[in-house]
Amino acid sequence: MPATALITPSASGWNLDQSYARLPAMLHESLEPTPVREPRMVVFNHALAQSLGLNAAVLADQAAIFAGNELPDGSTPLAQAYAGHQYGHFTGLGDGRAILLGEQITPTGERFDVQLKGSGQTPFSRRGDGRAALGPMLREYIISEAMHALGIPTTRSLAVVTTGEKVFRQQSLPGAVLTRIAASHIRVGTFEWAAAHGDKEALQALADYTLQRHYPALLTAEAPYLALLEGVMKRQARLIAQWQCVGFIHGVMNTDNVALSGETIDYGPCAFMDAFDPATVFSSIDRNGRYAYGNQPQIAQWNLARLAEALLPLLHADEKQAVELANAAIESFKTTFEGHWLAGMRAKLGLYTEEVDDRTLIETLLTWMREEKVDFTNTFRSLSDAGKTMVYDNSAFAAWHAQWQARLQRQPQSAEEVIARQRAHNPVVIPRNHKVEEALAAASEGGDLSVMERLLGVLSKPYETSQNQPEFTTPSGLTSAAYQTFCGT
Ligand code: AMP
Ligand code: MG
Repeated sequence: MPATALITPSASGWNLDQSYARLPAMLHESLEPTPVREPRMVVFNHALAQSLGLNAAVLADQAAIFAGNELPDGSTPLAQAYAGHQYGHFTGLGDGRAILLGEQITPTGERFDVQLKGSGQTPFSRRGDGRAALGPMLREYIISEAMHALGIPTTRSLAVVTTGEKVFRQQSLPGAVLTRIAASHIRVGTFEWAAAHGDKEALQALADYTLQRHYPALLTAEAPYLALLEGVMKRQARLIAQWQCVGFIHGVMNTDNVALSGETIDYGPCAFMDAFDPATVFSSIDRNGRYAYGNQPQIAQWNLARLAEALLPLLHADEKQAVELANAAIESFKTTFEGHWLAGMRAKLGLYTEEVDDRTLIETLLTWMREEKVDFTNTFRSLSDAGKTMVYDNSAFAAWHAQWQARLQRQPQSAEEVIARQRAHNPVVIPRNHKVEEALAAASEGGDLSVMERLLGVLSKPYETSQNQPEFTTPSGLTSAAYQTFCGT
């Protein structure tokens, strides 16, 4: 990374660089956000602002900055070019409604993208208006902050402002701009863009940049680009295992929505599963269930194969050998994922040690949960809260419970240690679909933000026992057939 010490932080705390602008020109377009009529702050993330070294008290009043009407000191706005496989089909995309303002260098020297989403048209907008509606931007704010609190790598949300303009999505809706904070916005699709243009120079520059920014330890590897592929694979495997362990369904795992940093990115039709069923799909346009809960690991691997294809020219001069190296890396995804998944599930059951039959123990419980259509979050949490008492009065459950108790006896840890582990890995509260909708409706229709603020407060401490508030822990009762999330974001 180039030196940033010359930049003097402003009174607002902005300490922006834009290393992305120094990458080959085919990867970005310089462009300013399109001003909006009447910027108004809806929600501002004080804690996040502070962690970025920003002056929260000053910036919380500066809706104009977060609407794109004024630029923060030192910004170099640009739209990023990328491609992507959407539902399996390759397309050229790019930031059609987002502008990267720059990279905030924090007081501890970390670098984070500051991006406006919904900031107006760009050369990549195609037929889109470049805008966003308030509901979906608040939804991204709520779910991304919930994911962060759950301990899952994710982009975060700094602010949402309304624009005083309308957007049309089948109906007229209030327009909004979200400020997204990310380790970076480099996607699998960014590599696909460079590769599809046959631009090896850009591809290599992008790979070097990604290594430097996210995998600096791999720069000195014998084969750094293969190491990059393996590094991304490992982070994706861990991330998807974390999703599976909390019942998170991303909903639109296209390759343009896969970040090389390993963060969860692009909260569109995502939602948390209530009743356990691997076939759960919420997205209204995902008719074939391509991105169903149970498919997420395979889809992640499929997406990584697209990254591997894009990287082929860098992996080996001989194409056949490049393909072999790539295949081996991609094939190891399954084992790596399963290792993380097993570890995550063991923790959810309070297991500290490993036994070969643990997988069967876990799968027996999940099969029962699916047959009985019980709530994923509450079932796991109640196992830790109920201790040795029965959670369900059901003979199949009782048989499983006895096996689990016997298994717990075969590890040295005390009952207290078991419960502590379970409580640290089984959230009490997740963003329940009906609670999210309730908060969005109050904010979008009536301008009442108190409902969302309460929800955000509860979601910020998801593992705390004091959170046992039925209002936030009761499932909606809506099945995925009845509850749909929309891509019309
Ligand atoms: P997403 O489904 O949010 O990952 O977006 C897929 C692509 O569509 C990206 O290139 C977006 O920039 C673009 N896009 C989504 N909504 C709009 C919009 N309202 N105007 C312009 N481009 C959009
Ligand atoms: Mg996207």
